[in-house]
Amino acid sequence: MKLFPKELKMSLRIKEGIQIIENNICTYGCRFCLTKGTQRTDGPPNTRRAGMYFANRTAPLKSKESLLLEDSSPIYNEQPYGIKKATVFGSLSTFSGSCFFGYDELHGISNVSKLFFDLLSKRYNDGFKHHGNESAYPFQLSNKQFECMNVGMAKSRLFIPAGAFQGSFHPVNPLNVKGLYRSVDWSIWLVKVVPVLVVSLFEDQSIKTAILALTRACALSLQWEISKTEIEEIKSSLETWYRYIDSQIASQALSNSIYKSSMHHLLHIPHIIEQCSSLRNISVRSMEREIGNYKKKMKARVNVDANAINVLERITRFKFLETTDMIDFSVLYNRNPESAKTGFVYHPATKIDNCKDYPQLWEPFSSPVLLPANYSGESTIEGLIRLDKLILALGAYKRRYLGISKGRPLALKLDKTITPAAKLWLDYHVLTSVLFKSNLPVSSTKRGGEFIMFESNDE
Ligand SMILES: [Zn+2]
Repeated sequence: MKLFPKELKMSLRIKEGIQIIENNICTYGCRFCLTKGTQRTDGPPNTRRAGMYFANRTAPLKSKESLLLEDSSPIYNEQPYGIKKATVFGSLSTFSGSCFFGYDELHGISNVSKLFFDLLSKRYNDGFKHHGNESAYPFQLSNKQFECMNVGMAKSRLFIPAGAFQGSFHPVNPLNVKGLYRSVDWSIWLVKVVPVLVVSLFEDQSIKTAILALTRACALSLQWEISKTEIEEIKSSLETWYRYIDSQIASQALSNSIYKSSMHHLLHIPHIIEQCSSLRNISVRSMEREIGNYKKKMKARVNVDANAINVLERITRFKFLETTDMIDFSVLYNRNPESAKTGFVYHPATKIDNCKDYPQLWEPFSSPVLLPANYSGESTIEGLIRLDKLILALGAYKRRYLGISKGRPLALKLDKTITPAAKLWLDYHVLTSVLFKSNLPVSSTKRGGEFIMFESNDE
């Protein structure tokens, strides 16, 4: 999510309340463990060193009591590790320590993906090269290699089934990618594109293994279900990746600035999964739409933080009145309760076996068209597709589906009326017909939904 100033202020306020210490410049910036951040170790002397980097992977985890400033063990005696106030969530009976705050896969893994992109991109990777030994930098790609990756993405985009990916799958371009890619796109880029189109650009086997290990760990962490063996695989894959970058830092090919907090936090994923659930189950993805609703309501240009807090308060008050049934809001929300029951038809096959698992066809619908038997004219459906071509394509489809060779006769039962629909709802995805869309005025083209285009080899 891109933070705008007003959201940033709100987020800071919220963080103030929660007292989670997650700040790059904080010495004990990891919210899970006691690792001590260090500044950049290479670079010219007397330069301002702002960042904190967390290369240590063996520090003990922060105890639940320490987050409440109640841990009396010697390790916490004189060092509160950056915690200034007990967290307000500590008063909840369900508070379980640092795991209570979980690890958000959407932002966590997409941040790692952005970091990995920065490592590769000439525009951003100067800060990761070991000062004075820039030529040894292992993640350097030439412009041509970068182009190869983009050509690969552009070519495969045609074959990406809508519904399988929620991302845009646009080729990465260092000039505009930061504005173009959303968190979802970044996650997909790391786990789908990097192992196939990026790893092959490197020649050295050890860097290939390391990058594959990183993407494997992230791919497993993004699964809805995860087994104990897979948790172990995440651990060992991350270890492979970390060991590689450690060796590159030790041989002065890479700066320790690669160990930003997002890179370090990956280390704790297996622990969070063991304590909470798979990361997808505790993800904030589902809240993104609600955040968008808040964003729309925050319109102030002055006193933006006060506006944000007011919006938050107002929504919470309404929610309270609603959930306690003090006021009946149903008139407001269900202006037309019947509307949910219109605008779609069940797939015709539903009638045959009375099963509602088939996809739904969504409006707009065009007028029903009769498919006559033995048709050879030139009329079209909505001016989009010729009837004779459609009938030919149906025949070819039936031949392929039933395995009937070209020489054998085919019985195509026509004389049927069909109703073309613009959209199909299948497995929680909306597929929009590109043909249909092309015939609609731009104003009626709504955002959302995915597009799929069927191309036939048959003439
Ligand atoms: Zn840590």
